[in-house]
Parts: sequence; C-alpha cells; structure tokens
Amino acid sequence: MSILASQVISAIQSVVGEEPSPLHVPYFAGNEAKYVAQCVETGWVSSVGGFVEQFEQKLCEITGARYAVAVSNGTSGLMVALKLAGVLPGDEVIVPAMTFVATANAVCHVQAVPHFAEIERKHMGIDPAKLRDYLNEVTSRRDAKTVNRITGRPITAIVPMHTFGHPCKIQEICEVAEGFGIAVVEDAAESLGSYVGNKHTGTFGKLGMVSFNGNKIATTGGGGVILTDDDALGPLAKHITTTAKLPHAWEFFHDQVAYNFRMPNLNAALGCGQLEKLDEFVTVKRELANRYRKAFSAIDGVEFFDEPNNCRSNFWLNSIRLRHATIEERDALLNLANKKQLGLRPAWQLMTQLPMYVDNPRMVLEVAVAIQANVINLPSGVEVAIRGNGRA
Ligand SMILES: *Cc1c(COP(=O)(O)O)cnc(C)c1O
Repeated sequence: MSILASQVISAIQSVVGEEPSPLHVPYFAGNEAKYVAQCVETGWVSSVGGFVEQFEQKLCEITGARYAVAVSNGTSGLMVALKLAGVLPGDEVIVPAMTFVATANAVCHVQAVPHFAEIERKHMGIDPAKLRDYLNEVTSRRDAKTVNRITGRPITAIVPMHTFGHPCKIQEICEVAEGFGIAVVEDAAESLGSYVGNKHTGTFGKLGMVSFNGNKIATTGGGGVILTDDDALGPLAKHITTTAKLPHAWEFFHDQVAYNFRMPNLNAALGCGQLEKLDEFVTVKRELANRYRKAFSAIDGVEFFDEPNNCRSNFWLNSIRLRHATIEERDALLNLANKKQLGLRPAWQLMTQLPMYVDNPRMVLEVAVAIQANVINLPSGVEVAIRGNGRA
C-alpha cells in the first residue's frame, strides 16, 4: 500500500470510524414516512393532493425564488428551463466540461449543441475570466445574437453548475453572459442549501434547477424543481410541465403540445419531510466538512476543497485533490478504500471523453483535464456525518 493511500484512508477513518461509510445515501428520520402514508391512506398518490403545493411553497421560502415548480427529475427540469430561456434547435449552449452527464443531455433534449467550458481549479465551476476571453475570440454579433464564428451557430444560453455543492463564480459568470446577450440557466442540482452571500444558488440566472434524486442532500426519490423570479416564465413552467391543461372542473382542454413532467404527490410528500430537516442536514454536513478539513490539513499533497469566500456551501460531497498522484496511485486508493467499504469515488469523466460528445465544440480544457484526474469524493451522507460528529 502506498504511503499516500494509507494516510488518506486513516484520515477518513479518523473522521467517520471504521464502519461501512457509503458516499451519500438518503436519511429519513423525520415525518417522511408519515406524509407518504397519508398519500396512501387518502389515495392521493399522483396528481391530486396538497404535498406538491406545500413542497413548492417551502422551496420558495428556502431559496427566495418567486416561483418553484416541482417536476419529475432534475434533467427534465433543466430541459424545460432551457426551452423557457429561449434556446432553439440548432443553438449552442455553454456547459462545464466537468459535470454530471445530465447537464449536457438536457441541452441535447432541446435539440441544441453543448459547447464545453473550462473550469477553475479552486472550486471547479466555469472560469468566468477565461470564458470572457474565449467568447471575445470565437464569437461575433449577428442579428442581435452571439454567434460562434467557427460553427455559425448562435450561443444562446450557459448552464453554470455548482460542483459538489460549492457555489461557482455565478455573479461573474452572469456578468459575462449578460455582456454577450446569453441567458443563464443554473444547474443547482447539487447545491440546495448553498448560498452566495445571502442569495441561494439557482436564483441568479433567468431560471435554475435543483435535483431531488436519491443521492442529493434532500430527496423525493426522484424529482427536481425549476426556480425563477420571472412572472411570465414561472406560471408557464407549471403549465408546460402539466400537459398545458387549462383549469376546468371537468373539461379537458390543452392549448399546446406539452410535457407530463409533474412531480407525483407521493414524491412531494417525501420531499416535504426532507425539507423540514434541511437546516439540520446542512449543519451536520458542515461539521463533517470541518472534521475532514482538519484531518487532511496535515497530509502533504492533499488539498481539501473548501467553500469559496463569502459563500455558504452545503458540502454535498466533500472532496479532496491528490496534488501529485498518478492515475494508478489514485485507482489504488479507490480500490483499497472501497474494499474497506469507504465510498470513495473519482470525479465524473469529462463530457468531452464521452462517446456522444467527443466532437463537440470546446474551450482549451487544461484545468478540467488536470482536476478530473485527481479529485476524489469522500463519504458525505447525513448518517455518516452524524456518526462522525459523534466521535470524540
Ligand atoms: C443530479 C444532477 C443532475 C440531474 O438530476 P436528476 O434529478 O438525476 O435528473 C443534473 N446535474 C447535476 C450536476 C447533477 O448532479
């Protein structure tokens, strides 16, 4: 076993103990079961019942967004948000090169083309300064649009993502986007409970999306929410995710081709139970992060990804960077840790490494390539955090 691997594993075990510690699993200790049982008892499991409205209202309170529209998952939410932001078939949409594949897939689902952006080293979000220089270099204005001179396609939106819960440089990215007339749709899938100053992630762009998949900080089993302050787009998001049916006591009238992306009441019930605990989840996860930070501060060649200045991160997935490790050393650590039932994971493959995206337009991805090779996510779930924090 390499020295680095043994140092990293004992640092993790000094925080979480020697019990199996998965990367991130759901934690239900509140009213979740009670609310779900209410759905079953009343028969209101699907599109009727009050939990969807409660869930949406609670999310407006938490995020400060004027509208929160609950949908079947984050990917469908992102797809609808892109459409509402004005992305048309044949447009290009800027997406970070290092993200979960859903960010890029959602762009394809509206027949647009993902164009991959470089990330910055410290918090792994899109690098706004490099983005500005790049757009200045490769685009020109045509018919009031920013057009990629190489492909001839308009660039109409950008999807900044808050990696592992740490807010990206969203204000700077919004400024760059505004300068080029590009709409911002935030992928805040991982950052429920993360703020820049006092403003919640997912509320900086024209629209935003939060995911409630089973591995996120709070879950509805599967689900997502579209956030916006726009008085036209908020109600429209609700309308086109619910088959565009006009309200009526008994008549079926739909005024456009639309989607059935509504979140079922059963899932929203689970989510209502989870949101009651969100503050507690963030608190224990931040304590866990403090313990990891301390444990890794003594190890040479390991960097703990901390929250950006003036931000409050939910620390969804704690992560470290092995500064000098080769891929073989990284994989040896991952193998050993997983044998010990510590849920360590590498970062996602870059989008440009996936077969469907190898030929897509992209910036120079030096940092993304370097970061992708040596970032590791650590066990970070609420149960692991509570256990870790309870240790002396
Ligand atoms: C989880 C996630 C999504 C998609 O969410 P689903 O609800 O699983 O569709 C999108 N983007 C990122 C960055 C994610 O982590």
